[in-house]
Amino acid sequence: MNIIVITMLAVALTLVSCNQKALTPDINNTSTPANAYKDAEYSVQAILFHQFGSEYRALCYQTYNLAAEKLKASVIANPDGKLAIITDLDETVVDNSYYNAWLVNEGALYSPETWKQWTAQRKATIIPGSKAFFDLADSLGVTIFYISNRGVDEYEVTLANLKSLGLPQLDSTHFYLKTNTSGKEERRQMVYDQQYDVVMYLGDNLNDFSNVFEKQTNERRHELTDSLKSNFGREYIIFPNTIYGEWEVALYNYNHKLSVAQKDSIRKAVLKGY
Ligand SMILES: [Mg+2]
Repeated sequence: MNIIVITMLAVALTLVSCNQKALTPDINNTSTPANAYKDAEYSVQAILFHQFGSEYRALCYQTYNLAAEKLKASVIANPDGKLAIITDLDETVVDNSYYNAWLVNEGALYSPETWKQWTAQRKATIIPGSKAFFDLADSLGVTIFYISNRGVDEYEVTLANLKSLGLPQLDSTHFYLKTNTSGKEERRQMVYDQQYDVVMYLGDNLNDFSNVFEKQTNERRHELTDSLKSNFGREYIIFPNTIYGEWEVALYNYNHKLSVAQKDSIRKAVLKGY
């Protein structure tokens, strides 16, 4: 073997071992880091599901496959319509679980400052099935509106991140980022005002679909979800997000001043056992 072949083999073996390391942990390493308990420790299982659960990937593919069928049917039913879809970004189009993993490792809780440090990296990855779906929408002549609660000051980094992922219709006329309110109804109205026929909404949070869910208790959110059940998988396309969401904030009754310990107590107190 000449030196080039040996080098190539060494590189290939390194790549294989890196790849295996990414999916298969070293089970012999049982050492506990000194800073093992962290404020965000409770979200470890949820993050692992997003990063390692092939079931999570399959759910994303399933959801985008269903959305594609529904969208094609909408276009056939409205061949002359001015059709649009409204989509959320985070945990719908792009995966930010790396930020949450960072929070666990740092022993930190979410803050707008650290979130912006993450988005500035432009390293969010594509949710499985996402690019194919939005490319399909684009090829069918459907206008895409990206309505996200990333701030308007994150526009440039967000655009660059999405461009690197090859998503279509990326210009300022297709983006409605957050200015002063996290409620999205005002921004959806801006789309309606342009006489678009919005045939589909995609999101990981019920607030991505309608403002009726906003600031409601989880009990009420259940009732509303049940009353709108025929919309899901049709007009409303929902994605799994076990890491964070309105469901968790609702547990705390939208009180953002609770301590880590108080939140922990609430989470354990509300668990339904038998
Ligand atoms: Mg989202």
